[in-house]
Amino acid sequence: MSENTASAEFLPQSPRGSRLQQEHVRKVARVAEQLRRRKSTAPLSRHKRAVSHQVPKAHDKKHSDEKISMVDFDQVIDIDAERRICIAEPGVPFCKVVEKTLPLGLVPIVVPELKTITIGGAVAGCSIESMSFQYGGFHDTCLEYEIITAQGDVLRCTPDNEHQLVFQMMHGSFGTVGILSRLVFRLIPAKRYVHITHEKHESIDTYLDSIYAHFERQDVQFMDGIIHSNTRLSLCVGDFVDSAPYTNRYDWLKVYYQSTATRDQDYFETPHYFYRYDHGVTNVHPKSFLGRLLLGKFLGSSQILRIAEKARWLVLDDARPDVTVDTFLPFSRLKEFLLWWEKDCGHFPLWCVPYRRVHDYEWLSDEYWKRVTDQLMVDIAIYGMKQRGETNTYRLLETKLAELGGVKTLISYNYYPEQEFWGIFHRKNFEAVKAITDPNNIFRDLYEKTCKAAMGR
Ligand SMILES: Cc1cc2nc3c(=O)[nH]c(=O)nc-3n(C[C@H](O)[C@H](O)[C@H](O)COP(=O)(O)OP(=O)(O)OC[C@H]3O[C@@H](n4cnc5c(N)ncnc54)[C@H](O)[C@@H]3O)c2cc1C
Repeated sequence: MSENTASAEFLPQSPRGSRLQQEHVRKVARVAEQLRRRKSTAPLSRHKRAVSHQVPKAHDKKHSDEKISMVDFDQVIDIDAERRICIAEPGVPFCKVVEKTLPLGLVPIVVPELKTITIGGAVAGCSIESMSFQYGGFHDTCLEYEIITAQGDVLRCTPDNEHQLVFQMMHGSFGTVGILSRLVFRLIPAKRYVHITHEKHESIDTYLDSIYAHFERQDVQFMDGIIHSNTRLSLCVGDFVDSAPYTNRYDWLKVYYQSTATRDQDYFETPHYFYRYDHGVTNVHPKSFLGRLLLGKFLGSSQILRIAEKARWLVLDDARPDVTVDTFLPFSRLKEFLLWWEKDCGHFPLWCVPYRRVHDYEWLSDEYWKRVTDQLMVDIAIYGMKQRGETNTYRLLETKLAELGGVKTLISYNYYPEQEFWGIFHRKNFEAVKAITDPNNIFRDLYEKTCKAAMGR
């Protein structure tokens, strides 16, 4: 099986692109050959250059797995400004994609807010940001995936070819389906600046009314929010603009989420808007002004996560971890969730990201989708909450979300019993795809990887 699976439709047009595509083919051949030669069925994990943006865990078994190196899969292979598409390798961080596309007046559609989240991780993990109310997640903007299977076969997967289920199941698979080795995704026009208005709301009702009105009218390009409490709610809406009377950035002393409660509006250079939360969304590091003055310039999310990963034995407590997790809820159940959260957990601020139901993801069970009728979902993200007393807040969230038709992203700590887990996630679809891509289960299955191995069990 030749490793050059790139379809004619998505072959680089530029000489530089063609050269990088040839280099890419050689890299894929190297990895495929390693997998073909490997006889062991022991778990195998990928090693990439950028830090992982999953919540680090002290006992995560991935650290002791045999590794396959993907450190050199970090190239932007080609940008076709006319067709507004980008061809790139999975290890490319979004900040590098934006750096290359913005000079052409284009950007990726969903740019997660931490600079070094990679495009591969955004597909295989999860990804949201303030354009998600129009476009869903980054996966929903992708057109083609090249996937290397555990047997060293290389598949070209699109939403409508013979590997469409593999294409869909790569999303949210957390590396259990196969190795994503090349992506083709859409770009949209962008301008040099972004203008944001911070709407202030004193009740959940007016807040939800405004979110739904903007969703229906599609009258803004960006929409997310900070819920400071259930009576102080900021909705941050805005657009790309050609000029700005001033610009702000929040990558040193100033803290963006706090500004949403104090400012009526703000202007940014586009990259500074994308990375307004890079020091943490609502759990900013360093916390103190003095800490930011001395270290803020050097300590972005990547450095903090790298330290946490390296010193995980010292800094992480897997028994009583702080709560950092994204939850997805049907819009119609959000008020119930916020009132419950205030009463039973009471941790604020929260990040609120409306998310259009662009596609009923094949990795969630049919039973799950039968229960959800909303066309708009909302991501409510909790960052850095200290757990109280004996309560396991992660487990509390898992049961409450099941009650409200919601789902918890698997990037953090997961306590689902196996049967309950497969009531939410689509076991049959995973098994159908694993039969093609990883019949010996060397990449682990989704439950084993996210609810057991990640927790050191
Ligand atoms: C503090 C914090 C804040 C966050 N905030 C946001 C946010 O605002 N918006 C958002 O969208 N996300 C957010 N995330 C989640 C984060 O985006 C996801 O966890 C994302 O998957 C991380 O991508 P990464 O590039 O760091 O990949 P990694 O963390 O390295 O990988 C994520 C998963 O994808 C798999 N994977 C990665 N690359 C490949 C590949 N080439 N082939 C196969 N599998 C692969 C890995 O095995 C892993 O299971 C946040 C996470 C944290 C910890």
